[in-house]
Amino acid sequence: MTENTVPLYHIYTYTDVDRAFWAEHLEDWVPKRIIDAHVHFNDPKFQIETVTEEMLKASWVTEVCPGKSNAADTEVYTRTTFPNREVSLVAFGHIDFGWEIEGSNEDIRAEGIKRGWYSLMMVRPTWVAEQVDWWLSKPGVLGAKPYYTMIGYDRTGSNAYINAGIFDFVPHHQLEVLDQRSAWLTLHVPKVDRLGNPDNLRDIAELRKRYPRVKLVIAHFGRSYTLPHAEEGLLPLADDPGILFDVSAVLNPAVHELALKHIGPDRILYGTDNPYFYLRGRRQWEGRTYINRTSHPFHFNKNREAPEIEARYTIYMYEALKAIKDSCNKLGLGADAVQKLFYSNARGMIEDILSRKGETPLPEPGSVSA
Ligand SMILES: [Zn+2]
Repeated sequence: MTENTVPLYHIYTYTDVDRAFWAEHLEDWVPKRIIDAHVHFNDPKFQIETVTEEMLKASWVTEVCPGKSNAADTEVYTRTTFPNREVSLVAFGHIDFGWEIEGSNEDIRAEGIKRGWYSLMMVRPTWVAEQVDWWLSKPGVLGAKPYYTMIGYDRTGSNAYINAGIFDFVPHHQLEVLDQRSAWLTLHVPKVDRLGNPDNLRDIAELRKRYPRVKLVIAHFGRSYTLPHAEEGLLPLADDPGILFDVSAVLNPAVHELALKHIGPDRILYGTDNPYFYLRGRRQWEGRTYINRTSHPFHFNKNREAPEIEARYTIYMYEALKAIKDSCNKLGLGADAVQKLFYSNARGMIEDILSRKGETPLPEPGSVSA
């Protein structure tokens, strides 16, 4: 570790390689104002599960992101990785049962407000409508972030509920409340074959028809990390102007290009999925699969690249940013489109939700200057 190495979340660091990558590829292109619409954090004091070796081995997602970062840490990581940018967050908790969810929801909300961030509440499908409505009424809360892991406890973290239906973990009585409030819903779609699974497409069509005021944001382009998945999932939804997508966790330039071309920059929100994407390395794709290359000896990291290649790895969130940049450039999308994607699409949604709640938007991070 050189003296210029700054610690980030967990085992991750910010190094001269990252500074050089930012300077070469991103400094002149990434807009000044950013809303990162997909960030996780939970104060470690709300962690009720001890993460075991067995759990780390069972799930690479758990292994790259086993817990522990509060709002203050998240603020430092954000400042470090977005140099000279004004960044607001739409934040929510981690996606498993290992947390005291309600205490954590409140902490994310209250700590976020102090920093000019907004939050989505983690919800369990068992919660009654009144409980969801009560959370939505609280200042700074824009909507909900349901997840199929919330259906039931699964100690192994091995995705026991991945093949659930959307309405199994976003039940109709909760959607009715979200619809009445025109609230934000970030939806991580289920199913092994991702967004394009016919059940998902059918359920999303039903959701749009029955709950048209919900601000539906499909996370990770519907988990379309490879081009075939993007073609199957994104193209059928390309013509519905009421469906938005966040780009988080997508590093694949071909997917960004397809989405920007067919869905367009008015319906896409920037998001990182941090702290997961402080992972250092690169992703490679083949057909409908991908491999996460990284330089840390995680259990899942069996297939290492040569040391001179690993030495050039930057953090995944920078690889993702460069993929978006290259796709925008290839399609000739200029500063206006880029600004929508990184900021004003999300800002417009936030302003609409807050005005319905009688709240004024928070001062933006970095906007208070002498
Ligand atoms: Zn996420």
